[in-house]
Amino acid sequence: MTIRSTIAAGALAALAGSWGTANAQGGFGPPELTTVKVRDNIYMIRNAMSGNVTVLVGGDGVLLIDDKFAVDHDGIMEHLKKITDQPVRYVINTHLHQDHTGGNAQMQALGADVIASENARRIMAETQTEGLPNILLDDYLRIYLGDMPIDLYYFGRGHTDGDIVIHLPEERIVITHGTDTMAQTARVLGEAALRKTIVLMAERIAQ
Ligand SMILES: [Zn+2]
Repeated sequence: MTIRSTIAAGALAALAGSWGTANAQGGFGPPELTTVKVRDNIYMIRNAMSGNVTVLVGGDGVLLIDDKFAVDHDGIMEHLKKITDQPVRYVINTHLHQDHTGGNAQMQALGADVIASENARRIMAETQTEGLPNILLDDYLRIYLGDMPIDLYYFGRGHTDGDIVIHLPEERIVITHGTDTMAQTARVLGEAALRKTIVLMAERIAQ
């Protein structure tokens, strides 16, 4: 079966700009965020600094895929307010790196549950103490955000040993941590492993 889903990069590896660069307001801090509308209920909040935030707006709450660095939290919340006044109910960490998980503790303080793979939490627990995910999946988890089904898969090692691929079956969208997930898998484990991952993904998503 052919997968016709659009591939939406959850984290474009846009590394233009640097940490200490003056921002558009003339101060110092993270590069200015922008909101990109993907669908009526799907947005992306991003800047020139690594990981993006994908925003899914349900009937009774918001689900974020990744929450960038801690320093981006206030800006993310400002942009979110312009999209919806619904509360953030869930944050999915596509993987454990700080540009995808740095806002976890602040999101949890607002009442959000943070979801990640078992492996991602284990590795995060070894390296940081704040914002550890509190809902974990082994290889599959379905969440309903209102009526919107959201499927999470762990297919094995990719960019890290804890990557999650997110599939929105009704929207026909797949969201990964970044455009290099597949390339990383090939580099780390070889092309046979990459083929296995793609076959697994196709089989599971086609079900
Ligand atoms: Zn990463």
